Amino acid sequence: MSNASLLQDIASRRTFAIISHPDAGKTTITEKVLLFGNAIQKAGTVKGRGNATHAKSDWMEMEKERGISVTTSVMQFPFNDCIVNLLDTPGHEDFSEDTYRTLTAVDSCLMVIDAAKGVEDRTRKLMEVTRLRDTPIVTFMNKLDRDIRDPMEVMDEVESELNMMCAPITWPIGCGKLFKGVYHILKDEVILYQTGKGHTIQDQQIIKGLDNPEIDAAVGDELAETLRDELELVLGASNEFDLELFLSGELTPVYFGTALGNFGVDHMLEGLTNWAPAPKPRATDIGEVTASDDSFSGFVFKIQANMDPKHRDRIAFMRIVSGEYNKGMKMRHVRLGKDVSISDAVTFMAGDRAAAEKAIAGDIIGLHNHGTIQIGDTFTQGQAMKFTGIPNFAPEMFRRIRLKDPLKQKQLLKGLIQLSEEGAVQLFRPMRNNDLIVGAVGVLQFDVVVHRLRTEYKVEAVYEGISLATARWCASDDSKKFEEFKKKAHDNLALDGGDNLTYLAPTMVNLNLATERYPDVKFMQTREH
Ligand code: GDP
Repeated sequence: MSNASLLQDIASRRTFAIISHPDAGKTTITEKVLLFGNAIQKAGTVKGRGNATHAKSDWMEMEKERGISVTTSVMQFPFNDCIVNLLDTPGHEDFSEDTYRTLTAVDSCLMVIDAAKGVEDRTRKLMEVTRLRDTPIVTFMNKLDRDIRDPMEVMDEVESELNMMCAPITWPIGCGKLFKGVYHILKDEVILYQTGKGHTIQDQQIIKGLDNPEIDAAVGDELAETLRDELELVLGASNEFDLELFLSGELTPVYFGTALGNFGVDHMLEGLTNWAPAPKPRATDIGEVTASDDSFSGFVFKIQANMDPKHRDRIAFMRIVSGEYNKGMKMRHVRLGKDVSISDAVTFMAGDRAAAEKAIAGDIIGLHNHGTIQIGDTFTQGQAMKFTGIPNFAPEMFRRIRLKDPLKQKQLLKGLIQLSEEGAVQLFRPMRNNDLIVGAVGVLQFDVVVHRLRTEYKVEAVYEGISLATARWCASDDSKKFEEFKKKAHDNLALDGGDNLTYLAPTMVNLNLATERYPDVKFMQTREH
């Protein structure tokens, strides 16, 4: 491909993920987004909830039983002259580690808020993670077909609780049974809502101009008057959209609509494709790599087991940071210092896996992984560099893993180390005994580990409770003081799956005391891969 057309293709990429609290409507919006992307003919097939239409991405019986989505998958579709990559994230908060790392692989996020509820916990937490990289955020206020809270109040809540300016792009006309549509502030037009069209792309019914009497005829005198009054207030009190502030993560454009009624999702997509950044640069240990750099590079942010029951393999998800992947090309697996030929990478067009002939910066490809790829691994065309900023997060839950058959100790250890390298769980081996302790951010991760130990490693294991509050990775610039610390704190120390020293704290009070007692030791909440 000529360089100019490659650069043009890269500039058209938009890679984003959705952040929201469970039930705000992420799955429903994903379906409608794909509908607009022509990825699927009829919306409604992304995720089945215990009914016959099981999602393609469901991979374990457990997941089906519980009706939650454990997987992170990728969907690619065209929209508005762009190629959009939507990275799905696990809906259940027990798998939030996967979500956190997926957020390192996107260039922007869509924040979905249930407008009847406002800002909720999970959204707050995920926004903290996007803040680490100042990711630009587009906001969708969902469920306008229900009685929502005062939209001005919900925007205020976003501003004060998430510390981000709001710039409304559309403004709702009524809500609940009286929801009539939105006024598009930048286009100065009313777009009317039609009920019962949730599964199709609707012909837009547009009325130009806020003073147009057709508005009064279409939505009723009362709502038309309220709309004009509210807008006067809103335009005076809120921020105007500002591209620079959006790109620096300080301001979010806000859209209103109903995902279920398939109204407003296209307005949001238009804004996102117009304004969200093309593939952004990423930091490495030897400086920044930009998307337009000639040679290929990428990093692995997630490893997924058994995506597709027909292929019992693991897929390593790689974000391409620069250049172009072509089928059969050689890549350098930097950590192993080995060149590998990749002929069978997968892309994620419309939820189905297809062999990727080509993929470029901003895209995600899946590499078949037989245990040699770890989260955080960098691939290049020969350069010895490593992408940074793909963290492990300190676990908050711990279990001791016990074997049913003591002869399988070696198998168990191998399985746990591999699962920890994949990021499925974190492993800790205390210095003072032979326990195997696994740590997780959410409790369901333990069930996944026991299930995978059984199916993939033929090890029957059980887990039992253990009273630990948290873990911190330890380091110090003062080697003498560090040695002293290792002796004195021996009974609280452990090695993680990658042999890094960690402090296991039975209580938060204990951790606080330890940080006071050893001021020369750093106790870190995240560890870079
Ligand atoms: P997720 O947990 O964020 O993925 O949320 P879902 O997309 O699964 O939606 C949660 C529930 O809210 C489902 O019952 C949806 O049908 C419903 N829902 C989603 N969007 C809307 C909407 O715009 N209006 C209404 N009334 N319900 C919605």
